[in-house]
Amino acid sequence: MKLILNIAAFVTIIIFVSITLVSVHKISQSQSIQPPQITQECTTNSNGPCHNSTTSVDTPFIPDQQLDDQQRFLAAIANKIPTIPEIDTFEYTLLRAYGTVFINQALGINLPQKVILDNESETQSFQKTITIALVDGTQECYLQKTAAIALNKAKSLENIPLKSGYAGDCLRNFATNLRFWNKYANSETLTLVKTGKETKILGLVAPPGTSQHLWGLAIDLQVSTSAQRQALNENGWFQTVVSDLPHWTYLGWSENDLPKFGLQQKIIQGIKYWVTPI
Ligand SMILES: [Zn+2]
Repeated sequence: MKLILNIAAFVTIIIFVSITLVSVHKISQSQSIQPPQITQECTTNSNGPCHNSTTSVDTPFIPDQQLDDQQRFLAAIANKIPTIPEIDTFEYTLLRAYGTVFINQALGINLPQKVILDNESETQSFQKTITIALVDGTQECYLQKTAAIALNKAKSLENIPLKSGYAGDCLRNFATNLRFWNKYANSETLTLVKTGKETKILGLVAPPGTSQHLWGLAIDLQVSTSAQRQALNENGWFQTVVSDLPHWTYLGWSENDLPKFGLQQKIIQGIKYWVTPI
């Protein structure tokens, strides 16, 4: 009887030790399993380039050069405007007329996320996001700082006066844009532009809320020599609005780079414009 009890006790101890060993092994096994690594979202898309916030700031986006002009332009601006306007809308007309700036990727430059700023308050909200600087030799002519520095370099090479000499040549507020519009056009003109029946006016004055001057990326200048044009072009400034002779736009690229974004060269009455391909 004692022998049976001893055997039973022995078996119990063996079972207990076995269970304990298995449990310890399981715990150590579970501790050794690492949780899955959290991978960056953009690395899961192996088909295209990775556009996280770090790379988009530091590395310029150059569209696939196999695409046609229009596709390259739309690919470039898709990085800047979350919603591309639909064809034949008022916004699309304005994107065609003034949208070259959306290829700008110069450091420090801020762009609005839409083509039209609806009112003064929306204009002010955008202008609060930009850093501005004074154009050399002026009292109150401001541009986005990177654009002003580039313009000042051109002005150090050649004498390039403002068109009127007043602040209205430079960064404007919504009210000034509206005042200029009302000087040359009215609400009937706006209706015609909105319905696609009038476009020439866009080369004379921008509809309310749509001027490149609201964005601090345009300036009206007195330019008459090829040396002045060359100094401006070499510093990222180009004529982009057909028929608006004094109007210069800061694109922030060298001239050779502009076709990479689908921009097209148009020579009209001896003046070279870089325009959108849409
Ligand atoms: Zn202008």
